[in-house]
Amino acid sequence: MKVLKFGGTSVGSAERIRNVAALARREGRCVLVLSAMSGTTNSLVEIGGYLSRHNVPGAQEVLNSLRQKYAATVSGLYAGEDEKRRATEYLDSVFSFIAQKAEGDFTPADEKEILAQGELMSTMLMQIYLESRGVTSVMLPALDYMRITADGEPDMKYISSRLRRLVEQNPDAGLYLTQGYICRNSQGGFDNLRRGGSDYSASIIGAVLGADEIQIWTDIDGMHTGDPRYVENTRPVGHLHFEEAAELAYFGAKILHPSCVLPAKLHNIPVRLLNTMDPSAPGTLIANFAPDGIVKAVAAKDNITAIKIKSGRMLLAYGFLHRVFETFDKYHTAIDMMATSEVGVTVTIDNTEYLADIVDTLKGFATVSVDSDMVIICVVGDLDWHESSGYCADAVEALRDVPVRMISYGGSNYNVSVLVRAEDKVRALNLLSDKLFK
Ligand code: ADP
Ligand code: ASP
Ligand code: MG
Repeated sequence: MKVLKFGGTSVGSAERIRNVAALARREGRCVLVLSAMSGTTNSLVEIGGYLSRHNVPGAQEVLNSLRQKYAATVSGLYAGEDEKRRATEYLDSVFSFIAQKAEGDFTPADEKEILAQGELMSTMLMQIYLESRGVTSVMLPALDYMRITADGEPDMKYISSRLRRLVEQNPDAGLYLTQGYICRNSQGGFDNLRRGGSDYSASIIGAVLGADEIQIWTDIDGMHTGDPRYVENTRPVGHLHFEEAAELAYFGAKILHPSCVLPAKLHNIPVRLLNTMDPSAPGTLIANFAPDGIVKAVAAKDNITAIKIKSGRMLLAYGFLHRVFETFDKYHTAIDMMATSEVGVTVTIDNTEYLADIVDTLKGFATVSVDSDMVIICVVGDLDWHESSGYCADAVEALRDVPVRMISYGGSNYNVSVLVRAEDKVRALNLLSDKLFK
């Protein structure tokens, strides 16, 4: 059985929902994982933001435009009055529920509950539509099986036993339908797998069900050599190794959620990136094998802060790095990139929640300076240094006119990363693309 995930744009209108239903019917028995219709989660985030600031009119305004968008979808999607009525009743209940949240205290738990409504609506609209086309689908409610631990990691044992049971209870289903992104936390409250998390849901579901393939359907024909929003003349990459895809996702290729590759990789399930607007395009196959020795793509991760930590002594004394890492560990802050010299080390972070505390602690034993508004640019390929050469030189050569704050190479076989100023990002990406993918 395959798992097919469709993102926000792919279910973003009545016409697109019909298109997804046709693609799923063509596939036969599969698990269909849906995101919220495009723009919905952003609107729900906005509503939550207004309500937490007690700005009820602000929340109402966003809610009203959301209502209008869904009313237009209902009238465009269903031919029959019965389906229109059922869909409208369901949507009304969701919108009244959100409106009621304006009364009384508004807690972070309420905010999470509001965020869950987008995927609940898209799957319900799809189920009613499929039924109207004579396809009986079985809903696998994500809130009944998807759960994260207190550390925010998917609770794989729990997910596996709950989801398998739900599937076994409905062995003859023609099609299973479920929500991406949303889940429960360890206390049973509403939660989610972070923005873009429907990819992660699909990968987790594919892993626990031992799927034949996980398909991520989106609005572009696979992973491109660069981010098409910033780089001209990009082209799709046919094959990626799991490791390459993981690096690209982590370092900013928005087409994939950063955590989505791991569950598929651990269970060796191929992931295919496909385009709903052009279903016959080959897309990208992510698997355990891929051509090596070539650069596949370049990605960029924004909002990076570099922290330079110089040892008080002349040489990097034994124990110095231990104290540095211990500090980041204490403040639960992950390090993305690092470069060391004889006297110091520079590390980068993207989560600055505890930056002031981290700097304060580091200053107890080192000299510290901080550069913010930086971007990591990551050149990715299967680049074993024994077997291929020149790619590192090409990357550096391409950036000869761009000020480079630091370079990292050799941490894995799969990337060369450089740190540049945010203002140089687009230029750097295009220079690299011209040099590496001509
Ligand atoms: P969905 O809503 O289907 O999850 P996303 O918007 O999350 O879709 O991801 C698809 C988008 O990712 C593309 O439209 C494209 O703008 C962006 N993107 C960024 N980097 C890349 C890349 N290297 N290759 C393809 N798409 C990319
Ligand atoms: N709807 C969620 C978001 O917009 C999850 C997703 O689309 O993957 O972030
Ligand atoms: Mg996405």
